Amino acid sequence: MHIIDRTYIDGDFVVPQGRDRAALFNPSTEEKIGEVRLGDAADAGRAVAAARRAFPAMAATTPAQRIAMLRRLRDAVAARAPALAAAMAAEYGAPARFAEFAVPYAAQAFEDMARTVETYPFRRTIGRAEISMEPLGVVAAITPWNSNAGFICAKLAAAIAAGATIVIKPSEMSAIQTQVVAEALHEAGLPRGVCNIVNGAGQVVGEALSRHPDIAKITFTGSTATGRAILAAAAATFKRVTLELGGKGPQILLDDADLDRAVPTMLMSGFANSGQACIAGTRLLVPAHLMDEVSGRLRVAAAAVKVGPPSEAGSMIGPMVSARQWDRVQSYIRLGLDEGATLLAGGEGRPAGRDRGWFVRPTIFAGVTNAMRIAREEIFGPVLCVIPYRDETEAVAIANDSDYGLQSYVLSTDMARANRVASRLQAGRVVINGAPHEPLAPFGGFKHSGIGREFGAFGLDAMLEPKAVLA
Ligand code: NAD
Repeated sequence: MHIIDRTYIDGDFVVPQGRDRAALFNPSTEEKIGEVRLGDAADAGRAVAAARRAFPAMAATTPAQRIAMLRRLRDAVAARAPALAAAMAAEYGAPARFAEFAVPYAAQAFEDMARTVETYPFRRTIGRAEISMEPLGVVAAITPWNSNAGFICAKLAAAIAAGATIVIKPSEMSAIQTQVVAEALHEAGLPRGVCNIVNGAGQVVGEALSRHPDIAKITFTGSTATGRAILAAAAATFKRVTLELGGKGPQILLDDADLDRAVPTMLMSGFANSGQACIAGTRLLVPAHLMDEVSGRLRVAAAAVKVGPPSEAGSMIGPMVSARQWDRVQSYIRLGLDEGATLLAGGEGRPAGRDRGWFVRPTIFAGVTNAMRIAREEIFGPVLCVIPYRDETEAVAIANDSDYGLQSYVLSTDMARANRVASRLQAGRVVINGAPHEPLAPFGGFKHSGIGREFGAFGLDAMLEPKAVLA
């Protein structure tokens, strides 16, 4: 049993003033595996005060000093890779394929930022003006449960790179991952108060940070609804915001695609991280004349997708994170049927042979129109919609007919054509033929998928305020 009863403020693991406790579950077994004591608004205030005290010295550090801090953090997190992988499996049921990416990524986020600082122009001259890029002040980071450790590390890395200090409010459902990361941060020996972590409920600690007058910026990853609440709360004190929100990514299969490669790639992108991924490509846009062929292939490929706990070899889709999330996904599968879509694969209930764990059946709907709610709302589970299109222009129109615009996908053997289609898509990222992640390229969304960008120089820009001195 993991009992997490301390939180990390001003360089020490301290008992929070808040007294509420939240249970932690293993979603593969539904067993309670731990408990976290939640901080309250007073704990958030203590953490902000510590970060504020630490800010002047942090802001005065040189880029070389910050690069050294980032590399110490990288090494400390990398040294805990096995503990982090175990935490992700236990409290989240992360499929091995996702953990293999997410665990090294957490440490690599610090190295990526160290490299960015090495070449970043903190001072520039424009005509008569001398420009200095100044750290914003105390930053608050708020993270979701679907890749908590990675988001903590990426946001912390950007803050350190800028010379800012930070208070992190991680998802209360991922406290074991948070604990592993907190121990690594402590070991990395940053000056007291530079990095603080307060476990707590979103409505309590998250809200207190969003309103706190001494927070200069909120960097948030989570749902669009919460992002909207944070934006409204932040407005009162003109906080800067970076919001990484939801998605409903289209995958445009062009009619020249090599189906032997494209169909498995589409399933992989759609079911990424058990479908609990903001970047999941959940709308499969298929040429109408290829619909029968592609549907048949999707049905066969989906039947071969193994659902199970990360401990079982070959599991590609793990459980939903919570009973609540399981219910939510089930309600969307029912909704799809009510809206008149037909099942190519999956459906309601648990997969055959699984009577424990919040597992859902990988589900693919055909007969979907882009007007249906299952095609418009983020489901956040392994549920895909196949939508037919007549020609390239209609494919682009359907893809862009969404409130979201995070990550889109194009599949084609003709790169010039794929790039032409990509140039017409309203999305922060377009992935052609399953191309791998590019860690220094900007990441973020158009429209309701967010505000601002993370990673690399764009992510660092977002932690800095330009100041021009004219002489
Ligand atoms: P969520 O919005 O429910 O919670 C995210 C975080 O916000 C948690 O730490 C939560 O405690 C906190 N929170 C909740 N209410 C708050 C409030 N009123 N004020 C301040 N903080 C509050 O999201 P979730 O369910 O944890 O995560 C899933 C969502 O995150 C999905 O919508 C997904 O698309 C999105 N997401 C986006 C990205 C991206 O980079 N764009 C990445 C991963 C997940």
